[in-house]
Amino acid sequence: MKFKTLAIHAGHDPKEHQGAVMTPIYQTSTFAFRGVGEPGPFDYSRSGNPTRKALESCLAQLEGGSNGFAFATGMAAEATVLMMFSAGDTIVVHDDLYGGTYRLFESVFANKQIRAHYVDLRNAEKLRAALADKPKAVWLESPTNPLMNLVDIRAVSDLAHEYGARVICDNTFLSPYFQRPLQLGADIVTHSTTKYINGHSDVVGGAVVVNDPVLAEKIGFLQNAMGTCAGPQDCFLVLRGVKTLALRMEEHNRNALAIARWLEKHPKVATVLHPGLESHPQHELALRQTTGSGGTFSFRLSGGEAAVNHLLANCKTFTLAESLGGVESLIEHPTTMTHASMSREVQLKMGITPDLIRVSVGLEDASDLMEDLESALAGA
Ligand SMILES: *Cc1c(COP(=O)(O)O)cnc(C)c1O
Repeated sequence: MKFKTLAIHAGHDPKEHQGAVMTPIYQTSTFAFRGVGEPGPFDYSRSGNPTRKALESCLAQLEGGSNGFAFATGMAAEATVLMMFSAGDTIVVHDDLYGGTYRLFESVFANKQIRAHYVDLRNAEKLRAALADKPKAVWLESPTNPLMNLVDIRAVSDLAHEYGARVICDNTFLSPYFQRPLQLGADIVTHSTTKYINGHSDVVGGAVVVNDPVLAEKIGFLQNAMGTCAGPQDCFLVLRGVKTLALRMEEHNRNALAIARWLEKHPKVATVLHPGLESHPQHELALRQTTGSGGTFSFRLSGGEAAVNHLLANCKTFTLAESLGGVESLIEHPTTMTHASMSREVQLKMGITPDLIRVSVGLEDASDLMEDLESALAGA
């Protein structure tokens, strides 16, 4: 079945739920045994819950994997994956990374002797050199947040596998609708379902999808042992959101590209970082690896920090807020907001300069969004 059909039907069979067309919320902690020593398909909601199972199965099918796992948050999903590793292990991590993931590596797992070795994964020679140290895995995001750089998932996966390292890809920015990392060679896909998969800014959630029974066994064990799973209410909301993922992604993509093209010509804008633009240095890779660019991108203002503050303070339809992927448009300042957990020095080394603005373009009418930016830029 095709993506749009799977998004609506995968994981749910009305016959298993009294004919209910929508997956019910199984708001129960525990399940009655059928008899002594005879549990049913579920026994306790940390180990498994029918609402969660429907979501996990749906996400697995959308990513083209064998097993999916739903977590309380994107960070819970990432932390659970990282618990597969042991003290002394090294993970090669792309040096352009979501701030929360960087903090997880540096302030949580570094203390447990699980070390992140940061490498620019756009450079195959640097990756090869890092792989010679026998890391257990390579961790990447593509496109990156907020710089919108791409990593060639196929090339990195092939190289990592030569050295026996697993590849973990955070697919939050594009969702499986625009990019399927497992098909490009990655071993594990992580998501913050908070973003596009749920899409309505009313849940925090996470997911992991794998296509390997050994990895599925490990992640499933850790999800239960650590209790990082998502609750049934949240799973229900994410299931509701995912049904329209294809439509939303198409429209996010259309709106964001239109605004990016318009900003590119705006006199107060220095550069636009959007992989769907011909001016993006990796546009060709974007065409090869993805079928769209989603709704999130960044741009630099030519007027420095004063211009940035003016723009942020004067947007009305764009809400000043962190996060992304919802139906409403958001605008934010990575230096002082989403990426504030990184030191200024690390930020600057990455290219997160104070003139950088990130937008999550929602599903409003593009002309209203451009008008909002135009009037906020007027005094900038
Ligand atoms: C938001 C986000 C996360 C973290 O997810 P939460 O649901 O906020 O815990 C991880 N990776 C990326 C790329 C994100 O945007």
